[in-house]
Amino acid sequence: MNLAEGVVAGDRAAIARAITLVESRRADHRERAQELLGELLPRTGSAQRVGISGVPGVGKSTFIDQLGVNLIAEGHRVAVLAVDPSSSRTGGSILGDKTRMTRLAADEQAFVRPSPSAGTLGGVAKATRETMLIMEAAGYDVVLIETVGVGQSEYVVADMVDTFLFLTLARTGDQLQGMKRGILELADVIAVNKADEQHEDESQRAARELSGALRFLRGPEEAWQTPVVTCSGLHNLNLDRVWKHVGRHRDWLEAHGGLQTKRQEQLVEWTRAMVRDRLLSRLDAPGVHDAVVASEAAVRGGELTPDQAATQILAALDEQDQYPSSHS
Ligand code: GDP
Repeated sequence: MNLAEGVVAGDRAAIARAITLVESRRADHRERAQELLGELLPRTGSAQRVGISGVPGVGKSTFIDQLGVNLIAEGHRVAVLAVDPSSSRTGGSILGDKTRMTRLAADEQAFVRPSPSAGTLGGVAKATRETMLIMEAAGYDVVLIETVGVGQSEYVVADMVDTFLFLTLARTGDQLQGMKRGILELADVIAVNKADEQHEDESQRAARELSGALRFLRGPEEAWQTPVVTCSGLHNLNLDRVWKHVGRHRDWLEAHGGLQTKRQEQLVEWTRAMVRDRLLSRLDAPGVHDAVVASEAAVRGGELTPDQAATQILAALDEQDQYPSSHS
């Protein structure tokens, strides 16, 4: 059985090997990864793709563990991936190295994969998108992608899923202040989590407040109206309602012809991001890098204007293209 067949058969060792390939930065691995994805492509695209975000401590792993268990009980197969930019920058990670989602991690019907740690956010995003395709080809019909509210990671995840679910808390003081406006605009469904024990009333109040605030951001009548619901991952309260809204959002996309368009646009955006990444990485070539350092120094010293410096850097890039060996 070759690797693609192993993935399609759902063989866990084959899936893990395939993911290692797409996460690798070695040129020969990258090439094999692209061949593999080419073979798998006809079997991808069928999963419900959902992004889940919220600050550390909001209860993401508890929520995902319980949601995953519930979905498996309904006959789904669930993949959980993560995009954690902190792990690539600092070597540490916000989502945590501790074993999370212990019930899901032990379940045959689930596949839990921590964030790839290599490289830039762009690199992490690419590996995660490609891992999502592998999981779809392996028959996982729900893919959950977890991320934290740090930097650009939420935008990156929103750009690879059908529905973006935002978890928040009632007791963070002023609801809206703590929440970036951009996040509210990204969210397709908002859940006020930990609505349990003595916090139930408070959570419901917060949900109403949020719902009211969202009204100001809402577009025209026919646009999707982001629902705000309360839930408790720990006590398994209302997770079915949250999931129902996620499903409703996807149905809405499909009914408006939006799902296909959304995914097509995501592919185009992905292509553009890769072009940008690769262009930028060419600045690291030895001869070009020297020109960058020199030009930046000249800008600091007031010897060149930024425009002149940029021209110099691009000239070095052109020269590198024409005589690739002259600097190596
Ligand atoms: P994450 O950092 O967002 O992944 O959050 P965790 O799932 O690790 O949860 C952080 C803390 O909140 C842990 O101590 C959990 O036991 C607790 N917690 C998580 N979900 C709930 C919930 O629904 N209700 C309550 N009361 N506590 C929760």
